[in-house]
Parts: sequence; structure tokens; C-alpha cells
Amino acid sequence: MTKRLQNLVGGTWTDPSGEQSYQVVNPADGESIVAELNYSSKPDTEAAVAAAQAAFPAWRDTPVVKRSRILAHIKEVLEQRMDEVATVLVEENGKLMGEAQGSVRRGLEVVEFASGMPSLSKGDFIEDIAARVDGYIYREPLGVVVGACPFNFPAMIPMWMFPVAIACGNTFVLKPSEKCPATATLLVEIFQEGGLPDGVLNLVQGDRYTFESLIRNPDVKAVSFVGSTPAAQNVWEMATAHHKRVQALGGAKNYIIVMPDADPEAALQAIIGSTYGCAGERCMASSVLVMVGDCGDLLERVVEAASGLCLGSGLNPSTGMCALVTASHKERVEKYIEIGVEEGATLLLDGRGAAVAELPNGNFVGPTVFDNVQPDMRIAREEIFGPVLSVMRAAALAEAIDMANSSPFGNGASIFTSSGGAAREFRNRIECGMIGINAGVPAPMAFFSFGGAKSSIFGDLRAHGPDSVEFYTKKKAVIERWFDQGKTGTVWGK
Ligand code: NAD
Repeated sequence: MTKRLQNLVGGTWTDPSGEQSYQVVNPADGESIVAELNYSSKPDTEAAVAAAQAAFPAWRDTPVVKRSRILAHIKEVLEQRMDEVATVLVEENGKLMGEAQGSVRRGLEVVEFASGMPSLSKGDFIEDIAARVDGYIYREPLGVVVGACPFNFPAMIPMWMFPVAIACGNTFVLKPSEKCPATATLLVEIFQEGGLPDGVLNLVQGDRYTFESLIRNPDVKAVSFVGSTPAAQNVWEMATAHHKRVQALGGAKNYIIVMPDADPEAALQAIIGSTYGCAGERCMASSVLVMVGDCGDLLERVVEAASGLCLGSGLNPSTGMCALVTASHKERVEKYIEIGVEEGATLLLDGRGAAVAELPNGNFVGPTVFDNVQPDMRIAREEIFGPVLSVMRAAALAEAIDMANSSPFGNGASIFTSSGGAAREFRNRIECGMIGINAGVPAPMAFFSFGGAKSSIFGDLRAHGPDSVEFYTKKKAVIERWFDQGKTGTVWGK
């Protein structure tokens, strides 16, 4: 029977009361219904925020050591149930099982990071900043925090947000992607069963309007968001207009620059892994390759390796590349291939019309490669979010960096070279938040922060790592002065 997804409000699972509904269809077969949900109405969002607000005082006053221990315990439980979460993720998102497991593991690392909150949230203290006067700064949680997530990492990205937020003493309302909500729902169920008090973590199903209603709620203090750039910009504008603290991570168009002195095998593996992993539905996917000077037969080898990737179900161990999330996203990616052809780029490998015999209705687009792409073409500038590689050429590194920097996005970029000097110039000049040097997917681990530059981020503080502790807490500075008994007239500084 198809699972109907619910909201979690104050520890109770309830049906969302909105009229609009959504069916999550398995991307690989394009037919079976993985889950159904109704979107939440405004009163549903108000109930979730009220539950989070009611749980806040007790959770804030729970010692950080205890909060951290609960999270450490949940991490153990989640580790044991990892394959269950990964299987739901494959069913609704399409990813390969290995990709799904890897992404859950990356989320678990954030839970592990968050369970070190006693060390992470320490303040600062100076004794005797003046005679008998001490100064210190300490951190406090903000209150109710809300977060909305994209479809492409439905376990990892929610775990970029709520584990750190709640470890800091906040309470949280999560709105998963309506396209892949079943994974996040299971995740929240595991956290709830793992020992979080009722109301600390709440979940509402819904779309952008559900989230906008959460943002506008006067009891919400901060907003975390990951998604496309137009949505991130909307969230940032709306949240700041309502005087909320906000971090909003947006879309991407990531460049890989290959120098003539690069290790050709390492570059090839990275290009294939980064471009076609998760069918290109990754904000760190490389979608533009710039070959500097003479890179030998690299491009021929990329086309050969890409065309050898076998499409299929994420549950089949021999599948090399998965389906796209929805039929409409498949259409969008195919439309971009058409645009590339119309713009005059050379289509070396065409993924349109890709067929998988046993899955005739799956959302498959095969690996695609365009050569002779110009920097001003739409396929070079716009995010396609599919298995499409645009190849450009540059005479020198400086020109390749200029090409990358002309992109409105600034999430990640990589260079492949054996020259320390070239790597250093790239690192210094590239306008991106995350940089790979002989690494194809330069995603920082949980204890560093994750985020880009330019239109790939709105707000100053990034996801997980130290920035997240900064984001989910506010600081208080205290000047403290005590007098010897009977000597209350002591003068400041004497
Ligand atoms: P999306 O922007 O369509 O949706 C993301 C979330 O925002 C969903 O929960 C959706 O309900 C909500 N939403 C949609 N439009 C909105 C709006 N105008 N205002 C407020 N909320 C809105 O993105 P998607 O298609 O689910 O995910 C893919 C996008 O996410 C890509 O652009 C990808 O680059 C980006 N992404 C970025 C990062 C990063 O770290 N920068 C990570 C993963 C994905």
C-alpha cells in the first residue's frame, strides 16, 4: 500500500490539512507510487511552530552535554538503520544505492560533529579586564529555526541543518522537498524515536508556500535553506524583510579546468565521477570542462567512458548512472540539450532518447557531451542539473579562470595539474567557495563549512562546520564586577 506521509507536530504524527497533494513516483520505473502527501496549510505550519516554541524553554535549559549525548545515541541508531534510509532514498530520488549510502554517511558525519557541541559552543573569558572586573562572551540558542531542502540529497541536506541547530539548543521545523519527502520523514521518525523530546524536531510536508508561511511566522527566529538560486534569493529576501537570520544556499555551475600537465587518468576519472555521478543532480557536479592548451586525447576518452555508463535502477548493482528525479526534470534537461544544439555547440554524445529495456518509463537521460561551447551560451552559463558536460578551450590558465569567473554562480571549481604554481594561481583567483585541486567533487567534510560564493549563496554563514554553530547561536557579552563584602564603593579600574 502506498505510504501517506504525515507531519510531526509536538511528537504526534498528523495528516497535513492542505488541499493540494503530490504523488512521489519512482524515477527509475516512472510508474510505481513511492509515497503520497498533502501539503500543509497555514494552520498546520502555525501548529508546528507553536509546538517548537513550547518545547524551546526546556530544551534550551537541557545541559548541552545531555543534548549532545542524545544526538550521539541517535547517530548510533541511524548508523544501524542506514540501509533502510538509503533504500527509501533510492526509491524516491533514483540515486544508485552506493551514492545514497554515501550521502547518508555524510549526513551522519554532521550528527557526529553536532554531538561535540560542548566543545564547539564554548565562549571566551578574560579575568580582570579592569580591577576586579571580568569580561566574557557566551552563546545562546535563537529559539525556533525552520529549514527547507532540495530534492537531490534528501537525507544529507536536512542533516546539514537540524542536528547542529538542536545541539545548540534550538527547536526546529523541517520542510522537506515535496519531490523527495519520504527519506526526510523516515529520518525525522528515527530522530524522534531515538530520544528527542516532543516538539524539539517537527516536520511539515509542503511546497514553497508552506515554507513561506513558516518564514513569515513571527515566532521563527532563523531560516536555513538549500535549493535553486531563484528560490534561495526569494527566501533570503523574504526572511530579511521579516528580520530573520537567514542562510540560503543556491544553485551552481561548476568548472573543471584541466592543464596539459595533469595526470590524464586522474582527470578522466574525476570528470566522469563528478559530471555523471547522481546523474549530474549535484550542486558540486562539474558541468563545464575547460581544457587548457593541448590535453591530448582527454576529450575522446571522456566521451568513450561516458558512453560506457550503463543506465538503470539505483538498486541494480551494475547500474552506472541513475534516472533523473521526475519526468518534468527529464524534459527540462532534454530541452537544454536542444538549446545547446541550437546555440551551435557540437554534440559529441547525445543523451536524449536513452532507453532502458526493462524500465521503459524511467526518467532517463544518457550522458551528454558538448564540444566547442562558448562562454556566453546558455549551456555554459545556466544550471542544467543533469548529465550534460559543456567543453570549452583556453590557451592559458588565466583565460580559463576568467571563463569560470564570468559565471554568475560560484559554488565549486576544480583544477587538475601537476604544477603547484598553477594550482596556487587557480586557488587565489577563482571566485568560488569550494575548490578542488586534483579533486573532482571538493565538498568539505562536516567539520568545515559548506557553501559557495556569488549567486550560489545568500547570507554570510554557510552550512555545517563552525559557521553553523555561529548561525544557530547568538552571543552575549558580559562585564561582571563583584565587590568585597562591605566595600561596595570600590571604584572601577582602581
Ligand atoms: P528548488 O529550489 O526547486 O526547491 C528547493 C526547496 O525550496 C524545496 O523544498 C521547495 O519546496 C522550496 N522552494 C521552491 N521554490 C521556492 C521559492 N520560490 N521560495 C521558497 N521556497 C521554494 O530546488 P530543487 O529542484 O529541489 O533542488 C535543486 C537545486 O538545489 C539546484 O539548483 C541545486 O544546485 C541546488 N542545491 C544547492 C546546494 C548548495 O549547497 N548550494 C545543495 C544541493 C542542491
